[in-house]
Amino acid sequence: MNAGRARLALLSAMWPELRALRAELGAVQTIRCGGRELHCGELAGRPVVLALSGIGKVAAATTAALLLDRFEVGSLLFTGVAGGLNEGVRVGDVVVAEALLQHDLDASPLFPRYEVPLSGRSRFACDVPMGEALGAAAAHALNALRVPLAAFGAVAPKVHRGLVVSGDRFVATAAESARLRAALPDALAVEMEGAAVAQVCADFGVPCAVLRCISDRADDAAHTDFTRFIEEVASLLAHAVVLEALPRL
Ligand code: SAH
Repeated sequence: MNAGRARLALLSAMWPELRALRAELGAVQTIRCGGRELHCGELAGRPVVLALSGIGKVAAATTAALLLDRFEVGSLLFTGVAGGLNEGVRVGDVVVAEALLQHDLDASPLFPRYEVPLSGRSRFACDVPMGEALGAAAAHALNALRVPLAAFGAVAPKVHRGLVVSGDRFVATAAESARLRAALPDALAVEMEGAAVAQVCADFGVPCAVLRCISDRADDAAHTDFTRFIEEVASLLAHAVVLEALPRL
């Protein structure tokens, strides 16, 4: 699907999620636009453009649209953290999205719940070869990488592939995550940007992928150790996974 040399767009919501990859970027040129900094350069010889989207669907969609309009982007990867929804998705696990949906989108009764009005779609699919490459690299990184997963209670972390749901809410109560599980039983994880980015990529006809490290269980303890987890685990994991999977992204 991807040329392997075409420019890869790398996006994250928060600076600590992007820090390790940004440090690796060479021959950087920074363009300021729409309140964003778009860092164009090379990662291990591959042309990339890297940007911080900010948190939430609007911020993520704006940034993705800017990147896709301003640069010749062959594929886009969003990396970050998410809350585990499905019973088996635990802190320290990695979720590679196969499809994304906006869990807070509801224009019913005019359109079916979750459907993006006038698009006829509620689920936006991710690129399959990119997902396979990321899944394999994530499994390897979880085994090989020296990150303090045990300090966050992670035991034998796994890689999952499936549905990720996005909405403009930090899901931080057991009651809200139970409601989401009941409404969307196949949802593996919840975050705040992925489905918006996938919709923009579909509009532009650019293959996309979303990689999320599980920082919390979207329950009453979701905010505990959140920032430390990103700094000490998620950022390093994303860095290792992206570098390993790079030729196939
Ligand atoms: N504590 C942070 C705010 C984080 S918002 C701060 O003070 O700056 C949550 C971010 O992590 C979003 O980018 C979202 O995509 C992801 N995320 C992680 N866990 C989540 C959860 N339980 N619900 C929704 N988004 C979550």
